[in-house]
Amino acid sequence: MKSSLNAARRTRELESLGREPVDVLVIGGGVTGVGVALDAAARGLSVVLAEKHDLAFGTSRWSSKLVHGGLRYLASGAIDIAHESAVERGILIDHTAPHLVSPFPQIVPLLPQVSRGHAALVQAGFLAGDALRLSAHTSHHTLPPSRRISGQEVLRFAPTVRTSGLRGGLLGWDGQLYDDARLTIGIARTAASLGARVLTRCAGEQVTGHGAVLRDQLTGDSYDVDARVVINAAGVWAGQVAQGIELRPSRGTHLVLSQESFGGLSAGLTVPVPGSTSRFVFALPASGHRVYVGITDEDAPGDIPDVPLASEQEIDFLLETMSSVLRWPLTRADLLGTFAGLRPLLHTGGDSTADISRRHAVITAPDGLVTIVGGKLTTYRRMAEDALDAALAASGTSAAPCSTRRLPLVGAASRDALATLAAPDRLVRKYGTEALAVAGDVDHAQAICEGTETTAAELAFAVRHEGALDEDDLLDRRTRIGLDPILRTRALDAARAALVLP
Ligand SMILES: Cc1cc2nc3c(=O)[nH]c(=O)nc-3n(C[C@H](O)[C@H](O)[C@H](O)COP(=O)(O)OP(=O)(O)OC[C@H]3O[C@@H](n4cnc5c(N)ncnc54)[C@H](O)[C@@H]3O)c2cc1C
Repeated sequence: MKSSLNAARRTRELESLGREPVDVLVIGGGVTGVGVALDAAARGLSVVLAEKHDLAFGTSRWSSKLVHGGLRYLASGAIDIAHESAVERGILIDHTAPHLVSPFPQIVPLLPQVSRGHAALVQAGFLAGDALRLSAHTSHHTLPPSRRISGQEVLRFAPTVRTSGLRGGLLGWDGQLYDDARLTIGIARTAASLGARVLTRCAGEQVTGHGAVLRDQLTGDSYDVDARVVINAAGVWAGQVAQGIELRPSRGTHLVLSQESFGGLSAGLTVPVPGSTSRFVFALPASGHRVYVGITDEDAPGDIPDVPLASEQEIDFLLETMSSVLRWPLTRADLLGTFAGLRPLLHTGGDSTADISRRHAVITAPDGLVTIVGGKLTTYRRMAEDALDAALAASGTSAAPCSTRRLPLVGAASRDALATLAAPDRLVRKYGTEALAVAGDVDHAQAICEGTETTAAELAFAVRHEGALDEDDLLDRRTRIGLDPILRTRALDAARAALVLP
């Protein structure tokens, strides 16, 4: 497959570096960087993307995995960002990744701690969300309008919600990703199918507007790459790649729990944070029979860790706030794991990171190096378009206009076509049309260990086609087994075995 990423292709493409200048060099293989690589390759440009670790190694695997309609931006008056988010949500859900992005119900149970005034505010927000959906031309067949629901309906979606004082609930719809790391990998493979050289374990050093030294992290070898256009998409590390970029990272933490702790949750369960009208804690049903509970927003100054860690206070805050609406409080014994990510927010001098705009920023240095930071996963496509347009203009390079609005990612098909695929639903949601190839590998169809449905066929596919080079890639990004550390230990042998399959 032209979209296949694997060790052999990586070696070949590393060897080809430096022979002639490339049109576009991208530093960073998070969702933003791979978005730029895809946009550039789709415009017919030659592309090299260098990622220091693995695809989605950074923030792009630690998100809430929501494809937002932009409601929270509306609350702060940023109508343009809200509209942009709603448009990009529609593109992902209807055209570019219907396999990975699904319509997602979210409920707010109306319990005594939510006053009638507060409930009216939340309802007004949901109605504004409906208006945003309409303005983005997303059909109500895809995302139904919000509505008030009965207490019984609340309990059908969220069986463990407190019943005493429950006077019904509010229901709204948004988009949910099967998994954020998999979206990033899907975009990278689509770029690769159009000829982009996507090189993991390859760090960008001495990055300028005209090229960089790329260092192979596996061998230490270095390659001088000249480029017409260079784009720094290194997320929270962007300030280490380009001078003059100052970020103010903010940490967001999630808890990982089993569906059993929620009695089978089938909607996002949203709980207003006491004392705030704009902050919420939510429980999100996730793949692998899990529920993620998030989210916090904590200033995270100082050195940037490769893998950020949740603080004890954040864990307590999330458990307590979510428990306030449940019949049986959650405790630390319910935790399978935690994860935390750093938002790459631009330093704007404000008091709190929660107040910093989530608007993305494109910054062009005097030598033409373009840095793209901020924004969010939902708007990666638009961020890529803006960054590439700016870089092409700065370098005087001409290219075809952006065409990614209607460019399906590998595995994408219409929702109707996906529904007819002869493969298990779980695989269709993860792989789209490629589920047929994974399900067809009958020799490796057994689950790899107790506690997961992941099969050896999925690991083999990740090694052959999705660029997995070691067990971390397999367990922490191609699958999300690693979010449960005990399960991760159990799955290690299977991951090692997949790496040496013929
Ligand atoms: C807790 C949390 C929840 C979120 N939830 C949502 C959500 O539900 N929906 C949504 O739309 N958005 C969400 N976001 C925002 C979204 O996740 C981020 O905006 C997005 O993932 C940032 O992607 P990125 O590619 O810019 O950065 P990253 O994903 O961090 O990618 C940067 C990459 O650059 C690489 N790199 C660094 N230095 C170098 C170098 N010198 N050479 C080569 N490579 C290098 C890193 O290894 C990394 O892989 C959330 C963010 C957080 C923190």
